[in-house]
Amino acid sequence: MAEIVLVTGGSRGIGAATARLAGQRGYRVCVNYRSDEAAALAVVADIRGAGGTAIAVRADVSRSAEVERLFRTVDEQLGTLTALVNNAGTLERQARLEELDEDRLARIWAANITGPFLCAGAAVRRMSTRHGGQGGAIVNVSSAAARLGSPNEYVDYAASKGAVDSMTLGLALEVAAEGIRVNAVRPGLIHTDIHALGGEPGRVDRVGPQLPMGRGGRPEEVAEGILFLLSPAASYATGTFLDLAGGR
Ligand code: NAP
Repeated sequence: MAEIVLVTGGSRGIGAATARLAGQRGYRVCVNYRSDEAAALAVVADIRGAGGTAIAVRADVSRSAEVERLFRTVDEQLGTLTALVNNAGTLERQARLEELDEDRLARIWAANITGPFLCAGAAVRRMSTRHGGQGGAIVNVSSAAARLGSPNEYVDYAASKGAVDSMTLGLALEVAAEGIRVNAVRPGLIHTDIHALGGEPGRVDRVGPQLPMGRGGRPEEVAEGILFLLSPAASYATGTFLDLAGGR
């Protein structure tokens, strides 16, 4: 049976590296994106160019109607989902907590908490033996920020990843006897575009040398951890966290 993976936010950064690696490992891949269609299509072209199967589907993961359409498209065009990578996430300009307003908090919770919850729910309805499914694996992309708190930068973002950690644990226990494993990676400082959203595109170059390993990480290094947790090599791992943060 072909493995079928949905990578949310698969058009850029960690998600794109994960989608490409999954394609190389033989997964049929759905590359979800919110706005950057050209980037998503480039990832699909890379996977197809290497002989794999991939589609790109636009959907905002924080909107339940769009999530339902996203998963239905996977059902129809790729087949029964066996793996979900809850990767889509965002942050906003570096600020102290007292500067954060209601609208910003709502946007961060929607993208980083509601999105992974909605996608995990849609995946469980397809994978769980309780619902007649064949099982599967979910990997949530949390962050070292959940442990570090991101003071003076984005405590809201860190807190949203703390919620992802709690969801990873709770859902893992809910579905442990239903054929589904749920784990998370907690990347540290990774070279992607996300830091520009915080107002500091060069953040990895500034902070990287201060890390124990003396450098930031590459998206491909995170993708390897995600693919490990999805794979049969991690068959007895659920509710666990893989820190990919250069020793921090
Ligand atoms: P990125 O380069 O900014 O890419 C973000 C991806 O998420 C894009 O594909 C974007 O699509 C998509 N996206 C954002 N909001 C979405 C939504 N509501 N619905 C659907 N797609 C959405 O970010 P990244 O650095 O690769 O981050 C990926 C994940 O890793 C995030 O969860 C992030 O919090 C986490 N992480 C990153 C780092 C790091 O240092 N880079 C460290 C720890 C954790 P569009 O471009 O189409 O909008």
